[in-house]
Amino acid sequence: MDAGISTPSQIPSVDEILKTPQAQQAAARFGRTRTVDAIRHATAAVRREVGTGAALVPGAEAIAADALLWLETDARPNARAVFNLTGTVLHTNLGRAILAEAAVDAATVAMRQALALEFDLAQGKRGERDSLVRGLLCELTGAEDATTVNNNAAAVLLVLNTLAKGKEAIVSRGELIEIGGAFRMPEIMARAGARLVEVGTTNRTHEKDYAAAINPKTGLILKVHTSNYRIEGFTKSVSGKTISTLARASHVPLLNDLGSGTLVDLARYGLTHEQTVAEAVAEGADLVTFSGDKLLGGPQAGFIVGRRELIARLNRNPMKRALRIDKIRLAAIEATLRLYRDPDRLAERLPTLRMMVRPRADIEAVAQRLLSPVAAAAGPHFTAEVIACASQIGSGSLPAETVPSAGIALRVAGTSGKGRRLAALAAALRALDQPVIGRIENDAFILDLRCLEDEAAFVRNLSTLRVEERR
Ligand SMILES: *Cc1c(COP(=O)(O)O)cnc(C)c1O
Repeated sequence: MDAGISTPSQIPSVDEILKTPQAQQAAARFGRTRTVDAIRHATAAVRREVGTGAALVPGAEAIAADALLWLETDARPNARAVFNLTGTVLHTNLGRAILAEAAVDAATVAMRQALALEFDLAQGKRGERDSLVRGLLCELTGAEDATTVNNNAAAVLLVLNTLAKGKEAIVSRGELIEIGGAFRMPEIMARAGARLVEVGTTNRTHEKDYAAAINPKTGLILKVHTSNYRIEGFTKSVSGKTISTLARASHVPLLNDLGSGTLVDLARYGLTHEQTVAEAVAEGADLVTFSGDKLLGGPQAGFIVGRRELIARLNRNPMKRALRIDKIRLAAIEATLRLYRDPDRLAERLPTLRMMVRPRADIEAVAQRLLSPVAAAAGPHFTAEVIACASQIGSGSLPAETVPSAGIALRVAGTSGKGRRLAALAAALRALDQPVIGRIENDAFILDLRCLEDEAAFVRNLSTLRVEERR
């Protein structure tokens, strides 16, 4: 091409570009309509650049190659798998629990084939969707009955709306929590049609505070697990056992919103004991609500277990139909719950627990193996070293606890433009085919390797890392 006479009139026509091998390949993969669109965009961009005199006119093949690259980039799914190296096992923004293989298989069957979802195979007539997991939930929690909804927020909403609509719901001021994502207890109450009655103070609530608040308009007493924070110092809260005795004597139902809701004693795996759902049921709560995708390690879901006549009332509320769970997750929940029947092998089979209990020495060995590939991929502007760090469970589970972990810290070599260079590194890692999500802490980019299981895939993925500094 002659550099002296670059004008927009020299830009190849769409038809001409379509004949190139790159455009043929694009059409075969993405269809002719999308390819023509992409070529039009590419030629428009060329026209703008040539018009300003800033560039020479590229050939038809180069324009087609641009169009193909754009189509390929655009075809990457929005719901992309990422490497969660944040050090938070249950990261709400990264989808919380990773499902067990058994749950994945069950969900796949439910997607591919017709399912006995609301069909009683023994009787050959209509059945109930809840009965797929009711028996397992009762077995694992000791409750009389159970029902399942879309998530725990929905579970709390359904209970409040069923038992306290137009009535009062009593909560300790120390438990009026915001979980994040606009789930605030007072607002949920208002939407459920319940009138909030706050008792006690932020740091101290006594049994007599609850007792004084109970009156004929009381619909419910609510106890909420303060999942994501802890009040320390001069504090007093009333035990679930004491509240349940009071609730029973006053003929008022007690809901214990556990949030995370674990089905096993975490102490047997070396973690801090967290009240189990069975313990909350045994201490006398009439209903207990908990999430499917937090400590339980299953798909997003909300469970309500407890007294049979109360569960029956929940199921009669028309809102239940709007909050119900789909067959794919229900199948995955059943498979997940079945794993709990063998606690000895649970830490092997349930990814959430497996990652939570992974010993630091194992993780450090991963860090040692990955140090040189990571250093090489990051390039000469960064130094890399293996570090000790602390992971957290996340999603409001065991909020005050961290578990010892290990990782790789990348720091900017030299002193200039540290912040900019770290940001560029983080952006480049996020731009990989499988984005790598870490965290920036004290002038370092930290990759906590607790949740990395496929090292080979991680290294392959790093090969395309390009750290570019933007201004
Ligand atoms: C997480 C949590 C919720 C909300 O549960 P989702 O399953 O995220 O809807 C409600 N209450 C408590 C105490 C929680 O920890």
